[in-house]
Amino acid sequence: MKLPLLLASAAMVTLSQPIWAQAPAPSAAPPAAAPAPSAQPPFATTKVDGTNNVYVFRNGNHQAMFVVTSDGVIATDPVAYGKPTGGQTYLDEIKKVTDKPVKFVIYSHHHYDHVAGGKVFKDAGATFIAHKTAKERLAKLQDPNTVLPDETFDTEKTVKLGDTTLELSYLGPNHSDSTIVMRLPREKIVFIVDTIPVGSVPGRGMIDFYPLESEDFIKKVLAMDWERLIPGHPGAPNGRLGTKKDAQDQLTLLQDASAEMKKLAQEGKCWDNAEKEFKLEKYASWPGYASGTPFIARRYCGLWGRGT
Ligand SMILES: [Zn+2]
Repeated sequence: MKLPLLLASAAMVTLSQPIWAQAPAPSAAPPAAAPAPSAQPPFATTKVDGTNNVYVFRNGNHQAMFVVTSDGVIATDPVAYGKPTGGQTYLDEIKKVTDKPVKFVIYSHHHYDHVAGGKVFKDAGATFIAHKTAKERLAKLQDPNTVLPDETFDTEKTVKLGDTTLELSYLGPNHSDSTIVMRLPREKIVFIVDTIPVGSVPGRGMIDFYPLESEDFIKKVLAMDWERLIPGHPGAPNGRLGTKKDAQDQLTLLQDASAEMKKLAQEGKCWDNAEKEFKLEKYASWPGYASGTPFIARRYCGLWGRGT
């Protein structure tokens, strides 16, 4: 089939730095004067190099993985928060590379910016799978734009479809208490959303982040057998995929942040003074430093300054 190759090469040309990766450095001009985001298309589908069946669908600054098998498609996060036609766009993109139906939609975790917008997949007959905590949380909130999972699991679940195996693992709380690892053992690819940003400082959604547990989570992920990581937001630079080095770098960043705030917190400086003094100079050149650091400081002040 020529189409996937065309899509892949088109996306190679157009992928550029994610919008959120372009936050100015602390010393740079204020956001109003920041350069306009580069003109990348609003969405893109890219085949993962070296595979004939694994794709990344990007809509805005969010990404999902989908896998085309001999018996249908396994899709992940609809990534359509605030985008009423985003689910349909995703389905249309899948239809450009296969005429097989989408059999499964698997949620990475329960945050709406990743899981809203799945109705078109539900209407087309897909089965939705998520961690059990994701379903519990979504069921309580009843977001009108988010489909509730049909099936849940606790620690492990294997999805087999046609010639493809996708392993789902829950390794404990991390970026949220419902975030799972999806692993394609044959392709040695993992899809992990938000806990392990690729080449950038963690984003703003640290409200339900579990600091110490996330360190354990990343260590467990590092011990798994994989070579490439598809992140839930485009990797920096140029939308790249991640490696084990990226995962190790994030672990080190969390450990550095934790140690820095622990010192300030135990001097009795949380919240205000600690948050003002908190710096991660080593990461100042990383995308997302200016926008993400205050949220990291707040979360670790909670941990070391309040015990929460
Ligand atoms: Zn999230």
